[in-house]
Amino acid sequence: MTDTPSRDPNDVAAAVPDLDTIVSLSKRRGFVFPSSEIYGGINAVWDYGPLGVELKNNVKRAWWRAMVQERDDIVGLDAGILMHPQVWITSGHVGSFSDPLVECGTCRRRYRLDELPGAESLTATDLTDPTVIERFKLTCPNDGGPLSAPRRFNLMFQTYMGPVQDEASVVYFRPETAQGSYVNFKNVQQSSRKKIPFGIAQIGKSFRNEISPGNFVFRMREFEQMEMQYFVRPDQAAAIFEEWLPRRWDWYVRYGVTPARLRFREHAPDELAHYAKKAIDVEYRFPFGWKELEGIHNRGDFDLSRHAEATGENLEYFDPATEEHFTPFIIETAGGPDRAAFTFLIDSYREEEVRGERRVSLALHPDLAPYKVAVLPLLKKRPEIVELCHRILADLKRDMMAVYDDTAAIGKLYRRQDEIGTPWCVTVDVDSLEDMAVTVRDRDSMTQERIPVEGVKRAILDKLDAARG
Ligand code: ATP
Repeated sequence: MTDTPSRDPNDVAAAVPDLDTIVSLSKRRGFVFPSSEIYGGINAVWDYGPLGVELKNNVKRAWWRAMVQERDDIVGLDAGILMHPQVWITSGHVGSFSDPLVECGTCRRRYRLDELPGAESLTATDLTDPTVIERFKLTCPNDGGPLSAPRRFNLMFQTYMGPVQDEASVVYFRPETAQGSYVNFKNVQQSSRKKIPFGIAQIGKSFRNEISPGNFVFRMREFEQMEMQYFVRPDQAAAIFEEWLPRRWDWYVRYGVTPARLRFREHAPDELAHYAKKAIDVEYRFPFGWKELEGIHNRGDFDLSRHAEATGENLEYFDPATEEHFTPFIIETAGGPDRAAFTFLIDSYREEEVRGERRVSLALHPDLAPYKVAVLPLLKKRPEIVELCHRILADLKRDMMAVYDDTAAIGKLYRRQDEIGTPWCVTVDVDSLEDMAVTVRDRDSMTQERIPVEGVKRAILDKLDAARG
């Protein structure tokens, strides 16, 4: 939308030239639909279809696996979306969770100042400067009209709790999951008996009344976050921050993102949030430019100190080894499954010519693919073949997402599975009835191997395990 691609000639190319390819594939195959479409849609909300919900669940599972399951020092939490409203006053969100908004004097459209074309080089100081519009000669991208000076626009959605709608019953839809982890710091630490350094991981919905949403699921008003808060000794915070950078980078690469399309970008001092000591974004080269995929932040002791001060609770940690009391520093990794799933979709998109025909495939990591395997009959007219397919399918479904399809000839069935990223197809043919063996076709190499029916599930599980590395 208003995001503009980089003009740097040395910049790496995006995996797809524009978003239309991904948006239309998503709609056609059931990854993502516009919300409330039959009513004309609602801006900046998207619904995940049958394949999209699988992909996004798999992204969340892969994150949970790396951040919780494979680690001894991080535990999970699922805090409520609605919290005590004072939380958001203490955290600074009520006062300052805002973006700079400008409005066109003629068409009345509103824009986020830093996303206007021509605003790429603005510093954080420029964004609050009332003369910024004149200085940078910015005009409305819609009709060239004059723009107002920037004003701060608070991004939080609010509603009322209980039957009375007045000031006292205002509650906020959380704009980040992080605060749920901070206010539960003591509950989690004491119940899990974790010693510092340890982390709290959370996945869940967040809401932001974004001024200029867009670029499909990149910037929505209702979205999910995958955030982890790591509580550390203050004197170790700087070093632990550095450790999280390659870890988070490697997670994206492990699940298939091309490293050349990733980069780190450190926030300039005037861009840092008021609480942050250091912030580095993992950025991805989207078709609309380099954009944040995830932020890694050293938040100091701001959060726990502020909540302790506001509530009178002691949120210090007692270190039994050194017999010291201190307020932990927090290293945060803040990403989102919507942006991550979108990135995996874009980066896995392949178009090639095979025997004179266009082949589209999604080279998704098998752990992320909506279906791990499709079971296909070579001849659907033979009931014994169909019956054997269903027997194999039922066995596979006990352990993984698997699908049966007989609505076209085999070549077309393969193409359909390629297009949604199914890593393996199992084909049952006439010979299978004799030799009780089937063909397993690989999505990326298109090679085929013959294996006994009894060994199909084991073979697919082994391939899944091998893909995990
Ligand atoms: P941006 O600069 O893009 O507005 P941010 O710096 O405000 O992002 P954070 O507050 O660090 O983002 O949020 C952490 C993560 O949550 C982001 O990296 C992104 O993956 C996800 N996220 C944030 N806002 C949105 C949104 N509007 N739609 C989808 N995902 C989002």
